[in-house]
Amino acid sequence: MSIVMKPTATKDEIDTVIQKIRSVGLKADVSSGEYQTVIGIVGDEKKIDFDQVRSLGGVFDVIRIQVPYRLISRSYIPEDVVVVVGGIPIGKDNPPVYIAGPCSIESYEQLYRIGKEVKDAGAHILRGGAFKPRTSIHSFQGLGEEGLEHLESVGKDLGMPTVTEIRSEIDVDLVAKHTDIIQIGARNMFNQDLIEAAAKTGKPIFFKRGFSAQIDEYLSFAERIVANGNRNVMLCERGIMPLGGSFKSQTRFTLDLNAVPVLRKETPFPVFADPSHGTGRRDLVIPMSRAAIASGAHGLMVEVHDRPQEALSDGAQAVLPQDLKKIIKISDLVYKTIRDSDAPFSSDLRNG
Ligand code: PEP
Ligand code: MN
Repeated sequence: MSIVMKPTATKDEIDTVIQKIRSVGLKADVSSGEYQTVIGIVGDEKKIDFDQVRSLGGVFDVIRIQVPYRLISRSYIPEDVVVVVGGIPIGKDNPPVYIAGPCSIESYEQLYRIGKEVKDAGAHILRGGAFKPRTSIHSFQGLGEEGLEHLESVGKDLGMPTVTEIRSEIDVDLVAKHTDIIQIGARNMFNQDLIEAAAKTGKPIFFKRGFSAQIDEYLSFAERIVANGNRNVMLCERGIMPLGGSFKSQTRFTLDLNAVPVLRKETPFPVFADPSHGTGRRDLVIPMSRAAIASGAHGLMVEVHDRPQEALSDGAQAVLPQDLKKIIKISDLVYKTIRDSDAPFSSDLRNG
């Protein structure tokens, strides 16, 4: 249920509605726009009487939202949300935003070297993992806190905002202290305590789709970020399980580009694509970057390494800095061509 207040509603009238929601043990998500306040309900809506709420003073309309992930649905937030990071507007009809850097932070020098290259290539945001989710305990697990310190220093030295993955709830304050954006990776997409703890920091959350998650499940977990008072949400399609499993397939994952226009239609939040994890192959990153932007992605996350054969993780999918330059150039061209065409991105939202 979403309660739309009249533009003339007083603070007392708004408070009465909020009290009504709280009186049955539910939480209220209040969004005060320029003209109107809209109040969403967090919890089991069946506990509250639709008609009683409608009859309260100052209420303009009460709308039932059918989708399970109502707080992040377009029915609740109709206008595209722009997330601003380090002055960079992300989402809506803004030009694509490029997040690039190594899979793992290996040292200050490595991150600075690659960071400088990706900045020169046109990337906006620096990525690098300090807490790596790895299948094997024998693989490099990341530098942890030391890695976060390198990320913060390199970000400052290059003047780039940063993103890094959080793996455990225990590290929420630590990670939030060192980075501009907190990433929740595919393996933790179902980890509701981690999602809620990260959301409560108020930092932008880069929330990746799990590789076995249906879109409805993905959005229901993403909704938890908004339900915890954080509207700085960035979604990311990063590939789903390929047929035959990742060891028999030509690609590590299958980049599900259907998800991009579906997510844009269902929610107002920025949608990214990650063609690096989505394919697992360096030679496929350029073509799938082009395709992702054409499908409507607001930005890309790309893994880059200048010495991929020496990378401590994901070397096979890391592109060289000169490839990133090509990716950004062609992706910007694709974006502009579609934006200026007879079938611009915004028309996808109206079709069907
Ligand atoms: C990553 O971005 O470093 C990563 C591990 O991604 P994913 O969670 O999509 O596998
Ligand atoms: Mn990686």
